[in-house]
Amino acid sequence: MYQHLHTDFGELDSLLEQVKEQAGNYLGDLHNRPVSTTFEVDDIPGLSEEGLGAAKALEQFNSRLEPLIVASSGPRYLGFVTGGSTPASIAGDWLATIYDQNTQAVKGEGDISAVIEQEAVKLLLALFDLPSDFFGGFVTGATMSNFTCLAVARQWYGRQLGKDYARDGIRDKVHVLTATPHSSSVKSLAMLGLGSRNILKVDTLGGNREAIDPDDLEKRILELEGAPFILISSAGTVNTVDFDNFEAIGKLRKKHNFWWHIDAAFGGFAACSPEYEHLLKGWEDADSITIDCHKWLNVPYENAFFLVRKEHNLLQAETFQNSNAPYLGDPMENFSYLNFLPENSRRLRALPVWFTLMAYGKKGYRHIVENSVEMTLLMGDFIVQNPKFDLLAPVRLNTVCFTLSGEENQENVRPFLTALNRSGKVFMTPTVYQGKKGIRAAFVNWMTSKEDVTIITEQMDRIAEEIL
Ligand SMILES: *Cc1c(COP(=O)(O)O)cnc(C)c1O
Repeated sequence: MYQHLHTDFGELDSLLEQVKEQAGNYLGDLHNRPVSTTFEVDDIPGLSEEGLGAAKALEQFNSRLEPLIVASSGPRYLGFVTGGSTPASIAGDWLATIYDQNTQAVKGEGDISAVIEQEAVKLLLALFDLPSDFFGGFVTGATMSNFTCLAVARQWYGRQLGKDYARDGIRDKVHVLTATPHSSSVKSLAMLGLGSRNILKVDTLGGNREAIDPDDLEKRILELEGAPFILISSAGTVNTVDFDNFEAIGKLRKKHNFWWHIDAAFGGFAACSPEYEHLLKGWEDADSITIDCHKWLNVPYENAFFLVRKEHNLLQAETFQNSNAPYLGDPMENFSYLNFLPENSRRLRALPVWFTLMAYGKKGYRHIVENSVEMTLLMGDFIVQNPKFDLLAPVRLNTVCFTLSGEENQENVRPFLTALNRSGKVFMTPTVYQGKKGIRAAFVNWMTSKEDVTIITEQMDRIAEEIL
């Protein structure tokens, strides 16, 4: 055995002890660590001939790179939609690494990782109050979940025309209708050969809404004269967290032939609260649903899952069948995740999810979701009351979309945001909403408290004072 491997394995306890201590220090100090850095990294030392051994590698990491790592898992990182990690999910994630299972395995053949994955999916269905008509599995993020769902939609579309796209490729123009899709759905259409330019944009409801206009949707459907299509709908748009009207879409689906996909990457968590679950009314009738776990579930990256109705199992297996692992007849009989999603070998991504759901249950997630919304509303109130800022849309759930007051300040939005992010106290991301430059602050971290919102609004006030 190579010397360093031998030594490291012998000193594993002390290595893990050091890492554990470091983890405690990082997590314990998350509140104080800056959320941004204007970093400069020294030259890479290069690959050493002999290797350094794990202890020295850790030293190298700690001296060069660790100080530059920002608190994006902390309570005041409001950029994109960025969750943190619950304690139980960290435990599960560490163990996923330690046990290092490959979750492709066929159920019942000496490995239970696929069983754990299905258990975690069951827990998730219970959390979201969704029926057991859905088959689910884990992928790296909502982008890959959208990709997976839309890949099955593609196969479904082909079958409507009597074709097998998975085997024969696509030569047809595939109709995709949507109003305000997330960029990752558009990217998925590109990756799937469906063509991002083939989207037929449906109108949104007027005014401040990003949700689909069901009347215009019906009009577009009638224009297709009975041709099948794929509908991508939103449970939470990223700018203003608007939800399509799923009851109205469900009614249309009874009359027309389409695949209904919902991107509920973070908005799906509205289901955890009796106050907000109405936003999702009727979503259980969709063909496929995307939900992220590394956002509002607060498990470490990379973690998301897809749900596809069980009645589409065969289409899903046709889409993802791995040629080395043929399924015979019923794809569920010799079940393997290999035949149901893009990756073959996968880490045991279900374990952090399993841990956090077992640890905090329905009530814990209701609390996390309601706390995030409360913090969002607090910041929304600050914007409304402060003459230097304007809301670009009402606060609907967990995101504040705002700008600087006054047309003349449009050019100051970017400098303001840069200065705000450089403060290291809070991080937000830029956006454009209805032609206006704006800023988004998304709250999904379980730790965020009123004290954090005070720190955030004080910074905003101070920097606006300086810049305007
Ligand atoms: C974040 C997000 C995605 C993409 O998720 P990743 O985890 O970054 O791949 C897709 N859809 C919505 C609505 C999102 O918020």
